[in-house]
Amino acid sequence: MPVEYLTNYESWDFDTNELPPRSPLYSLLPIGIGTPAVESFTSYLTRLAAAHGVSVTTLIRYKIAPLFIESSQPTDLLSAYSIRILMDASLKKPTMLLIQTAGFWLDLTQNASKLVCAVKTLTGRQDIQYTSLLSMQRWRLKFNNIFHFSQRWCPDCYSDWLECGKPIYQPLLWALEPVTVCPHHQRYLQLRCKDCNSLQPFLILDKTQAGCCCMCGAWLGQILEEEANFKLLSVDWDNWVAQVLGKLLAATDVLITNPTRKETRSLECPTFNSLNWFLRQCYQIGINPVECLSNF
Ligand SMILES: [Zn+2]
Ligand SMILES: [Zn+2]
Repeated sequence: MPVEYLTNYESWDFDTNELPPRSPLYSLLPIGIGTPAVESFTSYLTRLAAAHGVSVTTLIRYKIAPLFIESSQPTDLLSAYSIRILMDASLKKPTMLLIQTAGFWLDLTQNASKLVCAVKTLTGRQDIQYTSLLSMQRWRLKFNNIFHFSQRWCPDCYSDWLECGKPIYQPLLWALEPVTVCPHHQRYLQLRCKDCNSLQPFLILDKTQAGCCCMCGAWLGQILEEEANFKLLSVDWDNWVAQVLGKLLAATDVLITNPTRKETRSLECPTFNSLNWFLRQCYQIGINPVECLSNF
């Protein structure tokens, strides 16, 4: 047969594809990274536990606590035997790490840093730090009482997400004490369940369905009839705060990698009494807080 009639087949590639790194848990994508609606770390833990069909308590006790204990020990104590003893002790004390406040999980503490590192190891996700305020560490700023004492939520956001089939979650913005309104729906955040009047913790330890009351199980996206047409009347300050803090959370990763800021990192930076005080100053002087912080 003449050679021009032979079929040319493509050559085989015998190189083996490199397997991407595996992670012990699902590499669940945090919602809204780089946007004002970025998810909070406590919300992420709730969704991560739900994705594995376990409660948050189980996730913490059997997966997060061992890594947390390991990272909390001096290196000379890091023998397999001592880790085993500490692990056993942690399992006997179920209250360890089962703290439900925002200050414990979302603030600029060493504990929060170790917990974020543990979840980073478990999920293989490098962007987990943006779900807490840990990225603000680089600014060397400290705000007192930065979080509200309990989880607030926007019923309209919950309703919208349910209607669109999107996951129900809690944005980090809702945890910040000065934020009182939902910048998207222009309505005040809700503090108590309308059915049983309960406050909601930041970390729900059992298998409560997302967006439901931790006490009575009622859907928190419900809006009372008398509130159906409710809109904010005085929006200036409350709305401005929600907008600028949303922009701040959205810009955190940009601010961290801002090359001009690196040159100022060795300088002494101020400590602000409260985030509310800092925002008041910016509002009165007419400074954008994001630009202000980017210079520290
Ligand atoms: Zn909303
Ligand atoms: Zn309730």
